[in-house]
Amino acid sequence: MPKVVVIDGPAGSGKSTTAIALAKKLGYVYLDTGAMYRALTLKFLNLGIKEYNDEKRIRNILDNTSIEIKPVDDVLHIFLDGIDVTYQIRSNEVDNYVSEISAIDSVRDFMQEKQRHIAHEYNIVAEGRDLGSYVFPDADVKIFLTADLDVRAKRRLLQKNAFPEEFNEFRNNLTKRDRIDSSRKHSPLKKVEDAIVVDTTNLTFDQQVEKIYSICKKKIG
Ligand code: C5P
Repeated sequence: MPKVVVIDGPAGSGKSTTAIALAKKLGYVYLDTGAMYRALTLKFLNLGIKEYNDEKRIRNILDNTSIEIKPVDDVLHIFLDGIDVTYQIRSNEVDNYVSEISAIDSVRDFMQEKQRHIAHEYNIVAEGRDLGSYVFPDADVKIFLTADLDVRAKRRLLQKNAFPEEFNEFRNNLTKRDRIDSSRKHSPLKKVEDAIVVDTTNLTFDQQVEKIYSICKKKIG
């Protein structure tokens, strides 16, 4: 059976950068489940859909959507209906709508099935919100990554090369996403009992990767 390492946690806690570095160290495939939800959000925005309770229409869109993750020059890129949207999915507009779209039941079922399918084929380090609790309840290692809200907002600001005046906007977006992500009915963001909490507020990037790597080594050798 392939190995599964999951990293869940709130927005901006450093899951992506940590999971990429960890996957490299372990020689596993990196799975960014947030990117999958973001790609679908981009599709909804491109189609001009702002009303999310037309279940039939949403099902129809899902049936006609292809989301693929493939390496391009050693970096994983995400393709929506055959088009590379790796950079577009990081826009502020996607940030603003992604949590509402991710809360739709049929959207979650669609994504979770794809994620389980990938895990049948490869050893993975996957990052998201509902992986340890719902998608991979039997994961070999479950990490819950967290950090103070202000620290998360500051990191996001730096990552996006934004102006310091935009701090509050980033902070508000993280707060809003965390609220929607942890209060939705279907597979909400939550820390499960068997997840190991890693608080990165006072850790350097190298320290946090090293810490999680050593947890993985202990658990899966
Ligand atoms: O991880 P990232 O911040 O890119 O995720 C974007 C959004 O996708 C989250 O705020 C959440 O609404 C949704 N998401 C989710 N379940 C996951 C991963 C992401 O609902 N496993």
